[in-house]
Amino acid sequence: MTRAGAAPALPLVGAHMSAAGGLPKAVERAVGVGCRTLQVFTKNSNQWAGKPIPAAEAASFREAAARAGLAPLVSHAAYLINLASMDPAIRERSVGALADEIERCDATGIPYLVLHPGSPGEDGEEAGLDRIARGLDAAAERTPGSRTTVLLETSAGQGASVGHTFAQLGEMLRRSSCRSRLALCFDTSHVHAAGYDVVSRDGWRRTLEELDREAGLGLVRVVHANDSKKERGCRVDRHERIGLGFLGEPGFVNLMTEPAFATVPKILETPKDEAGEWDRQGLETLRRLAGEGRPEPAPGRPAARRGAPPGAARGGRRTAVSGRGGSRQ
Ligand SMILES: [Zn+2]
Ligand SMILES: [Zn+2]
Repeated sequence: MTRAGAAPALPLVGAHMSAAGGLPKAVERAVGVGCRTLQVFTKNSNQWAGKPIPAAEAASFREAAARAGLAPLVSHAAYLINLASMDPAIRERSVGALADEIERCDATGIPYLVLHPGSPGEDGEEAGLDRIARGLDAAAERTPGSRTTVLLETSAGQGASVGHTFAQLGEMLRRSSCRSRLALCFDTSHVHAAGYDVVSRDGWRRTLEELDREAGLGLVRVVHANDSKKERGCRVDRHERIGLGFLGEPGFVNLMTEPAFATVPKILETPKDEAGEWDRQGLETLRRLAGEGRPEPAPGRPAARRGAPPGAARGGRRTAVSGRGGSRQ
């Protein structure tokens, strides 16, 4: 049987797109660069309150997305939300804002809402994990009947933020009483910044094993496919275009050939140019890497077979990036 006889479905890749001019505009932009999935902000990401989404706009967004075959749809919550804040007033405001984000997802037919877990400042990790769990519960109580799943995003570990270890994410899930409404978003750039190896084959395998042990690999519903401008363990959040940063193509071969993520949408949050060319190229690179270094997997074959030495299966497709540091401009 030839490979052509069982052509694999196109990888489920997409990008975060601006909704300037209305949510349906984000669909147009996504289609224009070749997305199969789409992430948006349903309100200004740097403001607490957003105008309600008019019913007609929500309906035309749903219809346009369905017509374009964009699925699943993803929303990213506002950056101001901090369920772990030292300030009780900010925590309360954050719960209200999170509940509003959840309602916006329900209104627009978006199943997944990505949330940054938060930062407890000087109050420390323990207090932070607890407040996050309580905040998630409170937002869930205010939105009974919601169909939205809140995805806790792996954090880069900038400042005092929590969620940069898989153990912390697992702890947030365990402490919350609305677990059926929670899952995870895996951001490649953040995980790398937090110190996990996603570049070498062996490192990738160990990283996913730890994620599975501490929180559950099967809970990853969305991947943010971002390269990083900074070295591993830097604890800062600096996204780079696919293949041009410290993850380089080897990191994205790991991602795009990972059986556990085969049906998980991979969404770019990388720098953009006016014409959308950079997004088009990023998506094209992800699609190309999905077909790379991978003997057709036999059905049911365990992921553990991927223990080949780094580069062994990648042929001559190494990029300048493997020269770490020097040649990259
Ligand atoms: Zn994010
Ligand atoms: Zn992200």
